[in-house]
Parts: sequence; structure tokens; C-alpha cells
Amino acid sequence: MLVKRWVPSLQTYVDYETIEGSVMHIRNLHEIVKCAKCGNDVEYGYCYTSKFIHLMKLRDPAGTTPGGLEDILNYGFAVCPRCHAEEMKEAEGWQ
Ligand SMILES: [Zn+2]
Repeated sequence: MLVKRWVPSLQTYVDYETIEGSVMHIRNLHEIVKCAKCGNDVEYGYCYTSKFIHLMKLRDPAGTTPGGLEDILNYGFAVCPRCHAEEMKEAEGWQ
């Protein structure tokens, strides 16, 4: 699984180490998961979709095409409300 984090100030993706127990989507809203950013336990139903932490797929696995990364899901990992607020603040001015 290739996970990248969007850095608004740099307008680019960087490698991101996933936190074990973090998720993108599960059915049980009451399940306790790990926030993909801070790693704290949080009930899934209280999570937000990360604006920055995304699952990626290599469009060009050989890496010969500049900008050959593609966000295949257009869907982020689940983050806790505090990290969501931090992401919203970080995104200000870069949209
Ligand atoms: Zn968090």
C-alpha cells in the first residue's frame, strides 16, 4: 500500500508512513480505530476524511513519467477531529 501525504505549502505529495490500525473506510461507526495522523484511538463515527493522507497508485511503476502518481481513490484516511481541525488550518491559503 503506497500512502502519500499532500503538503499544501509545497504543492506536492511526500511519502507517508501509515499508522497501524488507521483506516479509510469501515462499516461499523462505533469501532475504535487509530487516527491516521496522530495515532490516537478514536471512534470511527467521529472521524473526518483526511484532506492530505491519501492512498496512491503508481500510474507509471517504472517512474519514468514525471508526475506519474495518481490518487486512485480520491479518498483519504480517517483522522480525529483535532487533526481534522489542524488540516483545515494548514490548508488555508493553499486551495
Ligand atoms: Zn489525530
